[in-house]
Amino acid sequence: MGAFHYTFFAQEIVFGRGALDQLGPLAERSGWTRMMLCATAGARARGALAPVEALLGERLMATYDRVQAHVPESDVTTATDLAARHAVDAIIAFGGGSAIGVAKATSIALEERRTGRPARAAFPTDQPLIPVIAIPTTYAGSEMTPVYGVTREVDGVSSKVTVTDPKITPKLVIYDPLLTLDLPPRVTAGTGINAVAHCVEALYSITRNPLSTAAALAGLRALSRSLVRCCENGADIEAREEALTGAFLAGTALSNVAMGLHHGICHVIGGATGAAHGDANSVMLPHVMRFNLAATAPQLAQAAEAMGIPVSGRGPDESAASAAERIADWIEQMRLPRRLREIGVEEERLPELARMAFASRTVHNNPRPVTDVAQLEALLREAW
Ligand code: NAD
Repeated sequence: MGAFHYTFFAQEIVFGRGALDQLGPLAERSGWTRMMLCATAGARARGALAPVEALLGERLMATYDRVQAHVPESDVTTATDLAARHAVDAIIAFGGGSAIGVAKATSIALEERRTGRPARAAFPTDQPLIPVIAIPTTYAGSEMTPVYGVTREVDGVSSKVTVTDPKITPKLVIYDPLLTLDLPPRVTAGTGINAVAHCVEALYSITRNPLSTAAALAGLRALSRSLVRCCENGADIEAREEALTGAFLAGTALSNVAMGLHHGICHVIGGATGAAHGDANSVMLPHVMRFNLAATAPQLAQAAEAMGIPVSGRGPDESAASAAERIADWIEQMRLPRRLREIGVEEERLPELARMAFASRTVHNNPRPVTDVAQLEALLREAW
């Protein structure tokens, strides 16, 4: 793949143990004086928001601490009303992809309310009116990307719609591994597999480029050394630091390339059934890798090597198959769900989910063309 297109998103990344302490000085330097914080009720309940609120002091005008999974449209409207009432000039997301998604969608909605125009970048370098600051506490990687998904309900059916624009990308990201020490094993494992999926789909993306490939391989190396260790002992700070580095690399790889079947189908499953994103990723990733095996063997063989699987003397097909097997092993070791039926997906919904996935642009960016809805139904049945 010789030709490529790469966009930089003008982000500042601060990574390190205790990096959260830099939030106050960075807000001061940036001139943000009317900030809003977005987080889940869980983060409030476990006392994780108090330190952030203390660091911001009088700069914090409001906190929206009711973020729900999959970014329901109603969440965005409530958060935007709150942000508008307080005339905020920056939005902080503290948490996983859900908090970051609400902050991204709120920033865009607020800009549109204030200007009366679509908040779309005319040039990739255009900056948002109300920047997002992301403090990720999971490994999902949304902090690095120009994308959010929002869940809408139409005629009683809910589905997730994605919005992509350079202005959506958080402008400041603070990665502090100390904030991940309390991440429960199930969320550690599920969001870690989501990060692995970003690397895998970036490696075989139809729009991959040298930087996305380099980031994806480095991300896989870091995650394969650390993820299972984080699940076995959440307090292992070295493993946590390495996994968060892997999440940063995975998010970087994801940010600039088209994802494929795996991401497309997981969005449909999560949006339509409410299954946790990490759970849907765990069930689907080995199946999608096998589906894509013949079309992407050289790239999956690279993945195998990055995961530390000995590949010398083996052909690309064999190495590629071992990459899918290794990921399936991690999923088993970390006790993640392996069947759609375990995560609340009803069998009778499979044809509908297949049709919804067939309508997804992301699914059609898959390196192995998806030509028939029956292929997707068969894949879902295999995973059910
Ligand atoms: P999440 O944000 O829904 O968090 C899962 C749960 O973990 C929540 O209950 C949360 O409160 C809890 N949690 C988070 N951090 C914690 C901590 N340190 N300790 C204890 N509990 C903690 O899950 P997620 O998987 O991070 O994000 C999923 C969402 O993000 C989905 O909507 C997905 O589509 C989206 N996503 C978007 C992108 C993108 O590029 N736009 C990338 C990945 C995921």
